[in-house]
Amino acid sequence: MAKHIIIGGVAGGATAAARLRRIDEQAEIIMIEKGAYISYANCGLPYYIGGIIKERDKLFVQNAQSFGKRFNVDVRIKQEVLSIDRSTKQVSIKREDGSQYQESYDKLLISTGANPIIPALDGIDSNGVFTLRNVSDTDNIKRYIDNHAPKRAVVVGGGFIGLEMAENLHHQGIEVSLVELANQVMAPIDYSLASIIHEHLIQQGVALHLGKGLASIKPNNKELSLTLNNGEVLETDLVLLSIGVKPNSFLAEEAGLELGQRKGIKVNEYMQTSDKDIFAVGDAVEYPHPITGKPWHNYLAGPANRQARLVADNMVFGLKEKYEGSIGTAIAKVFDYTVGSTGLAAKALKREKLEYKSVTIHPNNHAGYYPSASSITLKITFDPKTGKLYGAQALGFDGVDKRIDSIAQILKYKGTIYDLMETEQAYAPPFSSAKDPVALAGYVANNIIIGKMTPLYWREMRDADREEVQIIDVRTKEEFDLGHIEGAVNIPVDELRERLEEIDNNKAKYIYCAVGLRGYLASNILLANGFKNVLNLIGGYKLYRSATKTIDNSPKSSNIEMEKAQSNIQEDKLVEIDACGLCCPGPIMKLKEAIDKVDVGTTVRLTTTDAGFLNDAAAWADSTGHLLLRQESKAGIYSVEIQKQVPKTEPLTMKKGKTLILFSDDLDKALATFVLANGAAATGEKVSIFFTFWGLNAIKRKADKAIKKDFFAKMFGFMLPKNSKSLALSKMNMGGIGAKMMRHIMKKKGVDSLESLRQQALDNGVEFIACQMSMDVMGVSQEELLEEVRIGGVATYMNRAEDANVNLFI
Ligand SMILES: Cc1cc2nc3c(=O)[nH]c(=O)nc-3n(C[C@H](O)[C@H](O)[C@H](O)COP(=O)(O)OP(=O)(O)OC[C@H]3O[C@@H](n4cnc5c(N)ncnc54)[C@H](O)[C@@H]3O)c2cc1C
Repeated sequence: MAKHIIIGGVAGGATAAARLRRIDEQAEIIMIEKGAYISYANCGLPYYIGGIIKERDKLFVQNAQSFGKRFNVDVRIKQEVLSIDRSTKQVSIKREDGSQYQESYDKLLISTGANPIIPALDGIDSNGVFTLRNVSDTDNIKRYIDNHAPKRAVVVGGGFIGLEMAENLHHQGIEVSLVELANQVMAPIDYSLASIIHEHLIQQGVALHLGKGLASIKPNNKELSLTLNNGEVLETDLVLLSIGVKPNSFLAEEAGLELGQRKGIKVNEYMQTSDKDIFAVGDAVEYPHPITGKPWHNYLAGPANRQARLVADNMVFGLKEKYEGSIGTAIAKVFDYTVGSTGLAAKALKREKLEYKSVTIHPNNHAGYYPSASSITLKITFDPKTGKLYGAQALGFDGVDKRIDSIAQILKYKGTIYDLMETEQAYAPPFSSAKDPVALAGYVANNIIIGKMTPLYWREMRDADREEVQIIDVRTKEEFDLGHIEGAVNIPVDELRERLEEIDNNKAKYIYCAVGLRGYLASNILLANGFKNVLNLIGGYKLYRSATKTIDNSPKSSNIEMEKAQSNIQEDKLVEIDACGLCCPGPIMKLKEAIDKVDVGTTVRLTTTDAGFLNDAAAWADSTGHLLLRQESKAGIYSVEIQKQVPKTEPLTMKKGKTLILFSDDLDKALATFVLANGAAATGEKVSIFFTFWGLNAIKRKADKAIKKDFFAKMFGFMLPKNSKSLALSKMNMGGIGAKMMRHIMKKKGVDSLESLRQQALDNGVEFIACQMSMDVMGVSQEELLEEVRIGGVATYMNRAEDANVNLFI
């Protein structure tokens, strides 16, 4: 009779134990778990903390007793395996009371999972700082929330668990901030899609601190004071650390088993370790990725279960069942959004130096005419030569799971974009469209491969030299007026054939529409009329706008004011419009139509499934002078209430902003600029400084690495001041001695330095705008400028100047 020992009693361990029994009724099976629970739902833990799963008992699939009885397994909880002696084929085990004993095995399975990474930072052990991995972590967090009623929480780490916790803490009425070292949440997906999640998180009230790391924690009375690596301090009542996990391979390493490159237990395709009688599964192992062939950890429950089943067969019947590897198919709920991914994102392919192209589309989850249609943003990556599929990512409110799952199946069997085109989906209006998003993604990819459409990606559009290309917005005038890409001309697709003389054939033509479809039609029209070098923006303005937007945590409008206004709505003066299923600009056009028809004082309540509508409606209300009363987002349905106002012309005296143009890089003139800006900002007015030509030198930061430049940019860089510390005086500079004397005297007299005045201006909310054209001409890149600087053109300056009553040129 064979004797099997299993270390670890949750996903991998318990699954393997049950399978072992099903295939060998006689074997002796011992499962050792150091925690108090086995076979529980770790994936459900965040939802129990958030109160979505109400009963704690629901987390437990089985308890030690019932599992032991059903499967005739000797389950030993609260016992820890301390070491493995391979020569005698024994493990040493510690009981709860501290006593130890040995147990022998014929075959051993290690399913010890992973451990959370806890950085060695000051204050990391403070009361109120948690990680979440198991039931006891869950109980600790729950108890802390019940006893301390925290008002604020900081989640450190924006991975799947971090985001689930952000949502669940928010669900408990806690104000949540999220700190993430990378510039995006959800590492497996690309930045462009993550940026949509960023907007959604902010809409939900989560403050985002991206590109920042936790540096230290200081307990401060009942609070915790968190310092970030940029010096920013966040006060909070609870910290949830979720910066990743590492394989729990300690026992294996101590026993002399081979580890892989990433410190996971190395296994062959039979899940057998370097010892023929020891097997390993789950988070503790590493295994080659089927696409890259390189070892990786996927830390997912599905693969742990699959491995556990086949390893049991191999332990009983000999090495027969081979593991094919996991492509990392994952899904998460992030507030109202569902986010799923499978295979490799563009950034992973870039890292692997694999040639690829991508397609991003925004189709509806089901027929647009059937109620509650909502859009899905779906991106696929593929080999542009063979069409081999590399990966997919999707986000939306409904129907994301089935699209990701069907693409994952094709990917798993090494399929291509042609297989996407051939998929057969069940269709009726409430479930899908006759042209399902999966097939649609394949069609667009096919157009790229056969050269019918040349793709343009959002970064290429952002970085395009506006002099070298003609950017053509083929949306309607109304959509263009609501927001467009800088430098674009508006030629709606339906007017394009009559306005071909406006197309400049000496330049590349960068075309875009809202989502990509009208851009494709326009590109066809131009190509058919003999134009060359025509590119269509993938994902359209919708994706471009999210991807290029800067993170702004400030609330969009005063809730109190909104609530006050809300109480004034008279039901008889309320018009309801259902714009669900319509994509931009549908909802905003409907809103305009409705407002045009109603009397002053009447409120229009519009509901839509277009996520970008909340921003559009706020901007529209602001520019038209109507009153935004309320915005709400619930389970993928967005609603906005806008009250019609009498259009008023603003008297000139209402304009109180100040704008300054700093054209010079003389130290004295730069000083005067910041002094004036600070003075004006102190009166509470909106102040903007437009840095143009030499003025750009006043906002250069100290470079931490060399920046790649072309020849002319390098020459300019050589001649220009490296940063603000090298600015010279306009008079009596005397080879730099004058400037040094000036700085010395200022310090002696207690006058703030240029750098300190500049920082004060930023702290006072002064807006720094760098002139895009000057940057291009002088070869200055964004990386050389202070982080807070936004890049803008003349239109941006003019927009600020229109609201100002003082405009200075220095
Ligand atoms: C909060 C949370 C949410 C998650 N959500 C999802 C999700 O939605 N989808 C998804 O696919 N995956 C999710 N996961 C990941 C998934 O739970 C893991 O991938 C899976 O549990 C791995 O199984 P495993 O058997 O390798 O490890 P585990 O299930 O973690 O089990 C390892 C067990 O080994 C025990 N152990 C370790 N060392 C010893 C020892 N020396 N002696 C005795 N016992 C020992 C541990 O106590 C632990 O109970 C989530 C994980 C967490 C923590």
